[in-house]
Amino acid sequence: MKFLTIKRRTLCVILVSVILICSVVGVCYVVRATSSPKALYTIVIDAGHGGKDGGAVGKETGVTESYLNLQYSLALKNLCEQYGFKVVLTRSDMNGLYSPFASNKKRSEMEKRRQIIEGTNPDIVVSIHMNSYQSSQTRGAQVFYADGSESGQVLADKVQLVLNKNVEYAKKTAKTGDYYILNCTENPSILIECGFLSNPEEEALLQDKEYMQNFCYNVLCGILLYFLF
Ligand SMILES: [Zn+2]
Repeated sequence: MKFLTIKRRTLCVILVSVILICSVVGVCYVVRATSSPKALYTIVIDAGHGGKDGGAVGKETGVTESYLNLQYSLALKNLCEQYGFKVVLTRSDMNGLYSPFASNKKRSEMEKRRQIIEGTNPDIVVSIHMNSYQSSQTRGAQVFYADGSESGQVLADKVQLVLNKNVEYAKKTAKTGDYYILNCTENPSILIECGFLSNPEEEALLQDKEYMQNFCYNVLCGILLYFLF
C-alpha cells in the first residue's frame, strides 16, 4: 500500500509538473506569436553592486558577484525581450551607479537605482544578486520580496515555484527581505539570490553559461506565470 501511495504521489507530481511546463511553454509561444511592437509590460532588471563594490567573491575562482549579476541580468533581459517585454537595466556594464563625487557611494548608488525605477515606472522589478555565507555547505537559489507587498509576494512565489521545480537545490519558499531595492518604490519587486558563491560547487555552476541560460529561462517562466495566471 505504501509503495502504491508513493507511486501515486510521484505520478501526481510528474503530472502536475508536465501540465505546468506545457502551460508555461504554451503561454510563451502565445506571447511570442501575439507580441506587438509595443510591449505590454515593462521590467526593470537590476544587476546588484558594480564599480568598486564587487559584492560577494567566489573563494575558488575569485569571480565577483557584480560580474555574475551583470551576466545574469543581460541573459534575463535577452530572454524577456524575446517574449515581448520591454526591459530597462539599472546598469549594463561593470561601472558603479554612484556619483564619483559622492561621499557616501552606497547611498548614491541606491538612490540612482531608485531614480531609474521611478523614471521607468515598471510593472515589476527584478534585482539579481549572488549570495554568500560562512558555511560552505549552504546553497540554493532564493527569492525575496518586501514584507507587506502583496504583488511582490505573488511574483516571488511564482518565480520560486518554477526555480524549485527545475533548478537543483533551489529553496521551496520565497522569503521577505529588508532590502532597499524592494522597499524604495511601490512597484512589485523581487530580489533573486541566484546561488551561493561560498559553496564551491555552486560557484562553478553559476559561471556555467548553460546553467545561467537555464536559470534565467526559469525566472522568465515565473514572470510569465505572474502576468498570465
Ligand atoms: Zn549582493
